Amino acid sequence: MTDMNHSDALQNPVLIVNCGSSSIKYALIGADATHRIEGLAENLGTPDARIKHKSATGDKSEISIPDADHTQALQSVLEQLGDVTPVAVGHRVVHGGDVFGEATKVTLGTLAEVKNLSALAPLHNPANLAGIEAVTSIYPDLPQVMVFDTAFHQTMPEVAYRYAIPKNLYTDHAIRRYGFHGTSHAFVSNRASKLSTSAGNRDDKKGWLTAHLGNGCSVTAVYDGNSMDSSMGLTPLEGLMMGTRSGDVDPGLHGHLHRTLDMDLSEIDTMLNKKSGLLGVSTVTNDMRTIEEMASDASHEHHADAKLALEMFCYRAGRYLASLSCALPEMTGIVFTGGIGENSSTVRAKIVGVMRQFGLKIDEAKNEVLIRGEEGSFHSDDSRYELWVIPTDEEYRICEETRAVLDL
Ligand code: ADP
Repeated sequence: MTDMNHSDALQNPVLIVNCGSSSIKYALIGADATHRIEGLAENLGTPDARIKHKSATGDKSEISIPDADHTQALQSVLEQLGDVTPVAVGHRVVHGGDVFGEATKVTLGTLAEVKNLSALAPLHNPANLAGIEAVTSIYPDLPQVMVFDTAFHQTMPEVAYRYAIPKNLYTDHAIRRYGFHGTSHAFVSNRASKLSTSAGNRDDKKGWLTAHLGNGCSVTAVYDGNSMDSSMGLTPLEGLMMGTRSGDVDPGLHGHLHRTLDMDLSEIDTMLNKKSGLLGVSTVTNDMRTIEEMASDASHEHHADAKLALEMFCYRAGRYLASLSCALPEMTGIVFTGGIGENSSTVRAKIVGVMRQFGLKIDEAKNEVLIRGEEGSFHSDDSRYELWVIPTDEEYRICEETRAVLDL
């Protein structure tokens, strides 16, 4: 069956666009949400630009689009969709500042506001805006919605989102903690609440610690569907150790590196964002699969560094989860998601092991089989709190929010 034969199943489809600086992740999701066409345009602006497309039947194809920019790539993506035309487009936008507490329709006014916020996310927001401009140039009349990574965290109380720095930096310059990966934390906490079997929680309100562990990593405390605190801050650099990002460091580090090694701010920025985390500590890779392999092979030349990277990653994640439990009036359990959270039973077990004081007990057989998109719990009956793996589905959540904003 071709994508075109799927037009019936893909009734009123919404196109989800997630633009990075040189990539576009896309999905076309029908009204019943069970049918989906999806893919990735990557290496944009280079001779190696290409689209990896997956049809509604799961057939995969690769299309070369040498030197294509965002607009040309989107044009080619739309050609792959055949006669299935979206009724609306939902865009992932990373930073909505404290202006956007929820998803919003693209208008000249809201676009201008997002452009103003680009200073807070110089690596991300301009790419997201390029996606909106590309869609507008192809479909000037199609309704578009922006779904912000930060919006879910706008419920954080001031005690969690303020930095202990002079007040005017907050009031005059919006310097505060925002939190990211909101779409993912919202999706998995919502799903966990539906699946959870815990009884006896006050008013049936559920309290979750959600751990999104991928290349970017963050943990969030969610109570009764609201973000109460999260590990990322003004930028997606704060918090956990990540693939190439350092997470928390002593804020005195910048001055020290400048004074002693004469590093300038952009060098320090690049070092903390691109050369740190698993890559920096292991010295060879940001890929957790490879780190686990090297850590379990005592004869590997990078064994010791890889083992330390793995242990640090898990120790810091456990430590952060433990601290975020302070933000929950009541705790139901922990949810793991993201490429590492969904696939690595080793990392999950180590993180739970770090949280020794919490009375968490793993059902090892259940933990082992939760890989490759499987959803389920892995706590044993005598565990004090629940443990879940919920594969994240940011595209689905963006689709739902887009439909809600447009009343589709
Ligand atoms: P992104 O944040 O870029 O969306 P992902 O959520 O896809 O990233 O996560 C990528 C990470 O997931 C990589 O570190 C990768 O090694 C890790 N990962 C994927 N599969 C496994 C696995 N089976 N075991 C351990 N880590 C895995």
